[in-house]
Amino acid sequence: AKPISLEKILFSQGFGTRRYCSDLVYADLVKVNGVLAQDPEERMTTDGLMLNVEGRDWEFHEKAYIAFNKPPNYECSHKTTHHPSVYSLLPKPFVERGLQCVGRLDFDTTGFILISDDGQFIHKMTTPKKNIGKVYEITTPEPITQKQIDHLLNGVVLDDDPKPCFASACKQLSENRLAMTIVEGRYHQVKRMMAAVGNHVVKLHRTEIGQYRMPTDLAEGEWRWLYPEDLQKLS
Ligand code: URA
Repeated sequence: AKPISLEKILFSQGFGTRRYCSDLVYADLVKVNGVLAQDPEERMTTDGLMLNVEGRDWEFHEKAYIAFNKPPNYECSHKTTHHPSVYSLLPKPFVERGLQCVGRLDFDTTGFILISDDGQFIHKMTTPKKNIGKVYEITTPEPITQKQIDHLLNGVVLDDDPKPCFASACKQLSENRLAMTIVEGRYHQVKRMMAAVGNHVVKLHRTEIGQYRMPTDLAEGEWRWLYPEDLQKLS
């Protein structure tokens, strides 16, 4: 890649206006690959670039793709109504550079969310034509019956659309827990499908998108970078 100025690099990562980024350098608050930077105009290549800004390490990523483990009682939007925003749990530069959730989870749903600032990627991942499987672990108050599972697999009709929606796979984990795969993303889809078969959802947790399973050591509220090999598994 072509060398670009440090000021532009910092700006691209969401650290603030061009002016602010240049001031960060003059204030001795930026290190590049471990060395204190002197000149915001200095040009450098971005491959594998490791920054440190105001004491925090920052891997350069031209586009951001991250996995986030959503805790309960947060909303997946920038302007929230009743609960704090998931974006309040992420580093500020992410918000500055316009990261968006790729498909939302309800405020009380937990687990795997993709977050990115790559518009093409977001479109690719959310277009209904793509049929990307998403796996949800569902906890119910009533025991889950084989009849309910068959019903989910054969398709249920929700009240706002005559076209049925299907579970593409179901795996019973225990009497009251089911891992269900769906490919669409209709409003409250899992909760409504479970209600339609005569059960109910008390806990909902997403574990997987495509072939990518959220790392088990990613704690609630934590995020991590996704790399090309992870992205390949997502579709
Ligand atoms: N289905 C739901 O009902 N809620 C979610 O958060 C995701 C899928």
